[in-house]
Amino acid sequence: MRCSREGVSLLRKTEIAVVGGGPAGLSAALTAVRQGANVTLVDRDPILGGQLVKQTHMFFGSKRQYAAIRGIDIPAELIAALEKEGGDRINMLLDTTVLGYYDDGSLLIEKDEQARVLYPERVIFATGAAEKMLPFPGNDLPGVYGAGAVQTLMNVYGIKPGNRVLMIGAGNIGLIVSYQLVQAGVEVAAIIEGAPKIGGYLVHASKIRRAGIPILTSHTIVEAKGAESVEGAVICKLDENWNSIPGTEQTLDVDVICLAVGLSPLTELVWQACCEQVYVPELGGYVPKRNERMQTSLPNIYVAGDVAGIEEASSAMICGKIAGLYAADDLGYSNNMEQLSAEFNRELNELRAGEAGAKIRQGLEKLSGGGRVC
Ligand SMILES: Cc1cc2nc3c(=O)[nH]c(=O)nc-3n(C[C@H](O)[C@H](O)[C@H](O)COP(=O)(O)OP(=O)(O)OC[C@H]3O[C@@H](n4cnc5c(N)ncnc54)[C@H](O)[C@@H]3O)c2cc1C
Repeated sequence: MRCSREGVSLLRKTEIAVVGGGPAGLSAALTAVRQGANVTLVDRDPILGGQLVKQTHMFFGSKRQYAAIRGIDIPAELIAALEKEGGDRINMLLDTTVLGYYDDGSLLIEKDEQARVLYPERVIFATGAAEKMLPFPGNDLPGVYGAGAVQTLMNVYGIKPGNRVLMIGAGNIGLIVSYQLVQAGVEVAAIIEGAPKIGGYLVHASKIRRAGIPILTSHTIVEAKGAESVEGAVICKLDENWNSIPGTEQTLDVDVICLAVGLSPLTELVWQACCEQVYVPELGGYVPKRNERMQTSLPNIYVAGDVAGIEEASSAMICGKIAGLYAADDLGYSNNMEQLSAEFNRELNELRAGEAGAKIRQGLEKLSGGGRVC
């Protein structure tokens, strides 16, 4: 889809536009202003932090990427550094949505129902991800939520989503959100998982088991019951080929069905800009091709964070730093490049090492087709 600019006024010029103020975008903006570039950071939400604003748990990951700090406390540190070190080189536009990308590299942005055009010399897309849905009868009933929505209701607005929950998905997100539901006084009837083993970290699964919540692997949902909203859920066992086993159905008495079945990169703007993309299941779906600088097939566009492949906030922050570093370098702000680049790449390689990073490494290998990517 191409955007029309008729009747739209110029907002301003900027050297680098960062779209998305989650951990990736905040880190990209901070690195670029530290290098000396002028940056405009745009986020559609009224507060910066992206997914982190609802993550009340202590973070896993690396110490340098804030492990053992609560997710909700991380953005404040990044924003304070941006304000202190950015001075008049940083401009933060909140409650502002980027609606489109024009062929000349400009962005159509909307705030308070007013459209404006932003003219950046370089763009860093750090738009994050969207939750995946599961097809089953009744999945449009009120009471069927994504895990992110449940987290937002509870941890941002202080609202209980219901009284008894069926969680679908035993990856880290399903396990963490289940534990947060218990902490909020909501009963979790069970966690079901289609795969034969739990995908999330043992530490999270152990907490769930200690709370007395059954984790049923090789199980799926058959249907949601209810006339006006969710009143129950039918689940069943799966065989080794992921086929339902007849006669194993059971009905759970729940008023919420929570889906934690994965995330898809939010690549609409990247598509619109016509950056080359590749389908890589290990990275969550279609992801933009990029080089080791996080630069896409269009030289003025960089990507960082979940939009470049579903990973974690820790790696999103480092990829953001790399994108910010090279977008600034491209404009002639090239301080200390060798040392910073080596440092960021070392941190990223450490995070992606070992068994936990095997899927990401495999995805990046597919994406690169043998070349070097970040
Ligand atoms: C329950 C849960 C627990 C997690 N726990 C951990 C953990 O312990 N450790 C860890 O490392 N990671 C964890 N993660 C993963 C982590 O939160 C994400 O990987 C990380 O937030 C991705 O960062 P991001 O900046 O790419 O995207 P996001 O955080 O999603 O930020 C994207 C931002 O872009 C903005 N945006 C999108 N489109 C537009 C547009 N068109 N215009 C303007 N703004 C736009 C959004 O409003 C948002 O603020 C967890 C995730 C979940 C859901």
